[in-house]
Amino acid sequence: MNVYDSDRMADVLAPIGYVVTDKPDNADMIIINTCHIREQASEKLFSELGRLQNIKSKRCDTGKATVIAVAGCVAQAAGAEILKRAPYVDIVLGPQTYHRLPKMVAYATRLGEKKINKSLLDIEFPEKTKFDFLPNVTAKGSSAFLSIQEGCDKFCAFCVVPYTRGAEYSRSVDDIIFEAKSLASEGVKELTLLGQNVNAYHGKKTKGHTGNEVGLGYLIRSLSGVDGIERLRYMTSHPLDMDDDLISAHGEVASLMPFLHLPVQSGSDRILNRMNRRHKVADYHRIIDKLLMQRPELKFSSDFIVGFPGENDQDFENTLKLVREIKFLQSYSFKYSSRPGTPGALMDKQVPEHIKGERLSVLQDLLTQHQTAFNQESVGEIMPILFDRRGRKTNQIVGRSPFMQPVHVKASNEYFGQIVDVSLLTATSNSLSGEIFLNDKLSQNLDNLSFNAERNCV
Ligand code: SAH
Ligand code: SF4
Repeated sequence: MNVYDSDRMADVLAPIGYVVTDKPDNADMIIINTCHIREQASEKLFSELGRLQNIKSKRCDTGKATVIAVAGCVAQAAGAEILKRAPYVDIVLGPQTYHRLPKMVAYATRLGEKKINKSLLDIEFPEKTKFDFLPNVTAKGSSAFLSIQEGCDKFCAFCVVPYTRGAEYSRSVDDIIFEAKSLASEGVKELTLLGQNVNAYHGKKTKGHTGNEVGLGYLIRSLSGVDGIERLRYMTSHPLDMDDDLISAHGEVASLMPFLHLPVQSGSDRILNRMNRRHKVADYHRIIDKLLMQRPELKFSSDFIVGFPGENDQDFENTLKLVREIKFLQSYSFKYSSRPGTPGALMDKQVPEHIKGERLSVLQDLLTQHQTAFNQESVGEIMPILFDRRGRKTNQIVGRSPFMQPVHVKASNEYFGQIVDVSLLTATSNSLSGEIFLNDKLSQNLDNLSFNAERNCV
């Protein structure tokens, strides 16, 4: 979501002359877009700000101004503290107000006004959503994120999202289709629909209309009709919101990729209950089974939290059991991080850090084993790969398989931005390598086949 938001901030600032640079030492403005989900992510901000203060003062010595802005969820949660600890920050803005950046920048650069020695803090949750004000999207490659939903009303006991991103909000289907078409017209082939709790999506068909709301299954079917969009994905989902219509879309919509990120967090009912997840392990299994009935090749990834308050060895064993049963790919796992203001922070039986660390490494070893095994099973197959990155080596391009596996290939630029069949030749725990599967090789193979058939007939 922060990648999407950062790109949109660039879109908002483009009309007033800003372009993206990868050289902060020479930038007129630096925006840090922050994440508040775990403590470590928040703490990074303050060390990074120290570095930016040096850049700002060096540029000041040469008569150049540098606007420093802090955006995102740390800004939302700790805006006043940021300005107190780092008074050289010019703008602090939350995730719902970045459409106002041009005004904020005008203020910060004191255009036409006399010097105002005051930083700007805008962490409002405006009644009118930012999506009503954002300019047309610009594509940054052949795979794009598209925010369809924001915020969350679930209040899981560990999570800051409902406090920092606010209440659930869904964009209208029309609005989303419009953005999808714009992206497709710029060469985008893959869309990942985003939301903090994306399958809670419940948008109107048309903005402002009074008609019924529709769910994510309906939206996916509608998006599958957008010319040029060949792959659809969505993240991040809550198991409770996997309704039957969405599950059946997995069977019906060919462009919906056979890989689903469906976080379970824990394999223990006792801990799921303490986390306020409102589902049990058996419900999770039931959902997975229903999805597999629709699309047998579907693979899953998940998020896990280890060491939530009260988690004992047996609870953790239950998580490992679930992992062995489902065999997830590409999962994310984290040590529980106590977040101020959430119910989890006040719970008894906090788990010591060293136990969290031990459990995390056991879990990650198991997840890696399953992922490596799947990558190795893929060797020998031919898969369609969307090439959207250049590799570190010369003439190397990198793409994603339908199962999100990174695939490296030595090939010319003509394949960049395309979906191309690749023979997968070798695998590691994280990625695969292969070669472009050319049609002349295919016809050669077919010739061999017919030759064999002839011999066989003789
Ligand atoms: N909506 C998704 C999760 C979005 S938050 C869901 O309901 O599952 C992204 C991930 O961050 C979570 O899945 C969780 O694993 C992790 N996370 C959130 N709060 C955390 C915390 N306090 N400590 C550790 N990990 C956390
Ligand atoms: Fe956070 Fe997801 Fe729970 Fe919402 S559903 S509170 S985003 S973990």
